[in-house]
Amino acid sequence: MSAQRNITVIGGGVTGLATAYALLRDGHMVTLIERRADVGQGASFANGGQLSYRYVHPLADAGVPREALGWFLQSGSPISLHLRADPHQWRWMLAFLRACNARTNARNSALLLQLALSSQAEINQWRSEGLKDFLWRQPGKLVVYRDAARFRKAAAGVNNPELEQVLSPAECARVEPAFASLAPSLAGGIFSPADEVADCHRFCLSLRDAMGGMPGFNLLHGTASMQAGTDGRCEVLVDDRPHDTDLVVLAAGVESRQMARPLGFDLPLYGLKGYSLTLRAAAGTMPDVSVTDYDNRVVYARLGDTLRIAAMVDIGARDASVNPQRIARLRELAAAALPQAGPYDTAQPWAGLRPATPTGVPIIARTRSPNLLLNVGHGALGFTLSAGSALRVRDLVRSRTMAAAPMA
Ligand SMILES: Cc1cc2nc3c(=O)[nH]c(=O)nc-3n(C[C@H](O)[C@H](O)[C@H](O)COP(=O)(O)OP(=O)(O)OC[C@H]3O[C@@H](n4cnc5c(N)ncnc54)[C@H](O)[C@@H]3O)c2cc1C
Repeated sequence: MSAQRNITVIGGGVTGLATAYALLRDGHMVTLIERRADVGQGASFANGGQLSYRYVHPLADAGVPREALGWFLQSGSPISLHLRADPHQWRWMLAFLRACNARTNARNSALLLQLALSSQAEINQWRSEGLKDFLWRQPGKLVVYRDAARFRKAAAGVNNPELEQVLSPAECARVEPAFASLAPSLAGGIFSPADEVADCHRFCLSLRDAMGGMPGFNLLHGTASMQAGTDGRCEVLVDDRPHDTDLVVLAAGVESRQMARPLGFDLPLYGLKGYSLTLRAAAGTMPDVSVTDYDNRVVYARLGDTLRIAAMVDIGARDASVNPQRIARLRELAAAALPQAGPYDTAQPWAGLRPATPTGVPIIARTRSPNLLLNVGHGALGFTLSAGSALRVRDLVRSRTMAAAPMA
């Protein structure tokens, strides 16, 4: 617990809400600013629902550029590229390519694992104190591989059999019988029994409701902007009117980049578009375990009585609109892998922009602006990392010096 501060968190997605909650629990006064009519309507709305604490490898890895070239040439592949006359896109992609090596991937995976495990412990603490109604379960996660070389590489990286188990195709079918028909086309799988699933949007609403009952919380609906004030301090405006605050935490997802520009920051954030389908499947047809079909990069999670299926990375999307061809492809992949859970034509489509850094590691840091902290860039793992990232911000606020420090 540190001296009470009046803190403003910008962005009511899972990152901003978890941050606000951690700061309120630490005794601060917190104003959360969200520009939409309600919280959790951005990338946090209908994501894959996986709390993937053990499987946190960033997308940037050795071999990915070569594999991606193949994908870019095929229609319907997991990753698509729309090249634009946009220097930011090229800079981001160059930085991504620089991170595509085994050493950087191993280092960043270790950083993410540490953050993910602290997140798991903290969400469980919050649950034990009464945070509820977000369809949380701990069924474990099974990553299945069709390609033998990819499976061998993944299996070689397993070093703690209590946390991750290497399975044969027959064992994969035993762990999750709903995918048994896939077994003949599998090379094998990795099962992480302690991984969890939950509904990210409901988690956002649960955090909003919990904070609504806590002293010192204020949810402000409006559009925030930031500008440089005296001594490089960050001044916040809400709907163009000055907003008084001691400290600011920027957690506005992919829009954080534009917001930070007036202060002279060029954050390496890029929106990677992904898609999901949500359907009410008949009882007994859904997988219990959360499953990642690695070669197709499709994830499946049962959330209450619905099935959430999420996939795809579109580089160069202008906005989060649903592309009908990509959604049709996702329906096709799901119908082939899990035919009994359909019909998929009634499934609810959605698209969102993952706020991604090139390395996959979020930026949780002080800045040279003495009252501004960043909690941005959680990419494909924002739900998984939300509580751990919130604790990092809490610790930065606790640490006595909020003086200039280099950004991560
Ligand atoms: C298809 C897909 C599947 C995914 N699956 C998973 C998964 O299974 N597990 C996992 O851990 N992660 C997953 N993710 C990633 C995860 O959803 C994101 O990392 C996470 O939601 C990012 O949260 P955020 O709060 O940073 O951003 P957002 O949820 O986008 O929130 C940012 C908020 O800031 C608000 N805002 C923006 N500008 C302003 C402004 N000027 N003033 C006020 N408010 C503003 C926005 O309205 C928005 O509400 C997935 C993402 C996608 C797209």
